Amino acid sequence: MASPYAIRIIGDPVLRQRASDVTEIDGRLAALCQDMYVTMYEAQGAGLAAPQVGVQKRFMVYDLGAGDGPQVLINPVITESDGECEFYEGCLSVPGLRFDIVRPSTVNITGLNLDEHEVEFEADDFLGRLMQHELDHLNGILLIDHLDEDQRRSAKKALRKIAMEAPSGVAGLGAELGSPAKSKFGLFRS
Ligand SMILES: [Zn+2]
Repeated sequence: MASPYAIRIIGDPVLRQRASDVTEIDGRLAALCQDMYVTMYEAQGAGLAAPQVGVQKRFMVYDLGAGDGPQVLINPVITESDGECEFYEGCLSVPGLRFDIVRPSTVNITGLNLDEHEVEFEADDFLGRLMQHELDHLNGILLIDHLDEDQRRSAKKALRKIAMEAPSGVAGLGAELGSPAKSKFGLFRS
């Protein structure tokens, strides 16, 4: 089955907006999650936040690959975070770019599932990192916002490559690169 969604790539303004709370958990949302599973698996990602498929709502799908199958978390909130660790992190919306990024090692999360039940859990290791990464997406924050100076410099090279290869949908990439949105990036502003 072909993915019904194209994953939005850095430069797309939808990735820079704060998503709004899910107010209705219904069949439509469940169907959307099903579609997002397909998109996530096809992209071989472990998680996908709604803004990454252009939906400005606070929910995510994920699968840790431990045999539990795909999960949904709606209106997630980090209630507590602790520790610090480095993790080699990538993002489906920033293809080809991976960096060691420091974040809290453990987070406590609350949210809702598709049955409208409140869930609460502690997440560390891979799940902890995934939760923080996807929550960032819901707040319009991207991987590149966590980079240090050196990382930022090499990220720019990678982003330029993305801009060269992307036919459209990267109108905001000039801004992501920290340069005025003009000159060569004007090419993509159709
Ligand atoms: Zn991501």
